[in-house]
Amino acid sequence: MRVGFIGLGLMGEPMARNLAGSGIASSLILQNRTRAKAEALAAEIGAMVAQTPRAVAEQADVVITMVPDVPDVEQVYLGKDGICEVGHPGLLCTDMSTVGADCVRRIAGALAASGAGFVDAPVSGGTIGAQAGTLSIMAGGLTGSLEALRPVFQTMGGKIVHCGEAVGSGQTTKLVNQIVGALNLEAVCEGLVYAGAAGVDIEAVLEAVGAGAAGSWAWSNLGPRMVRADNAPGFKIAHQIKDLRLALEAAEAMGLSLPGLRLVLGHFEQTRDAAIGNGELGTQAMIAAVKNA
Ligand code: NAP
Repeated sequence: MRVGFIGLGLMGEPMARNLAGSGIASSLILQNRTRAKAEALAAEIGAMVAQTPRAVAEQADVVITMVPDVPDVEQVYLGKDGICEVGHPGLLCTDMSTVGADCVRRIAGALAASGAGFVDAPVSGGTIGAQAGTLSIMAGGLTGSLEALRPVFQTMGGKIVHCGEAVGSGQTTKLVNQIVGALNLEAVCEGLVYAGAAGVDIEAVLEAVGAGAAGSWAWSNLGPRMVRADNAPGFKIAHQIKDLRLALEAAEAMGLSLPGLRLVLGHFEQTRDAAIGNGELGTQAMIAAVKNA
């Protein structure tokens, strides 16, 4: 199958690499807002480069998108030179960004008018999972469309869960993941701030707690980075704020309060506002806001 990949950032770049390495695509067409990034990767993995999302869709059977936020996804699908300009039966698209259920329903509706198919398939597992090809993929859409995409997803994910036949089911599941992950990160920050203040051996704390009932992905992967004050992303604060806002809006629409979500969103926003560019740091940088709370 001819596969297009749009959005070659922290996640998209390793995902496209794994796809290329699998050999399942007879041709791979890359597109990125900053074209140089696509050209550098294409030269390395033997792919082609397209100028616009429309040009990708003209040459591909399957198009994958992995861009930051709602306006970016809308630009890629609905904007000038976007995918929807050339939607047709036989074209199958999947957006793997985190953008909420409303956005992907709009995209799916626009594609359906042209006969093209769509599956929302956001992911969890971070850049570590993207590099290892072990992401958890949360798919929403028709079973037949998911099965057509499964060989593609298998090159990127260790777990592919069909969350529902309705487009948006994957996004709703992903926002559950974001609520739980963010509150767990708040807990990791508080635990490490407490350990630091108490003056215990921090390496021993990391090892012992990580092996017990309080162990978690965030504890094992982000806890050591907090201790080393390594704030490089991984997952950017700006993207986490976007996700938690999407979750909060959806929660409010359902009449839910979710006080922990509000608390942790406030800590991420304080981290972003502490200095210009702090939205580009990894989510582990939130420990400073928790320490100063
Ligand atoms: P990122 O590093 O900011 O990369 C986004 C990429 O999309 C960049 O290469 C950017 O191009 C490109 N892009 C933006 N607008 C575009 C457009 N209109 N057309 C073509 N390309 C465009 O973001 P990321 O960390 O990979 O995250 C991508 C998505 O995955 C987000 O929704 C995020 O929430 C989600 N996610 C991230 C993680 C993680 O750990 N990072 C984990 C799970 C899910 P430029 O080169 O011009 O900037």
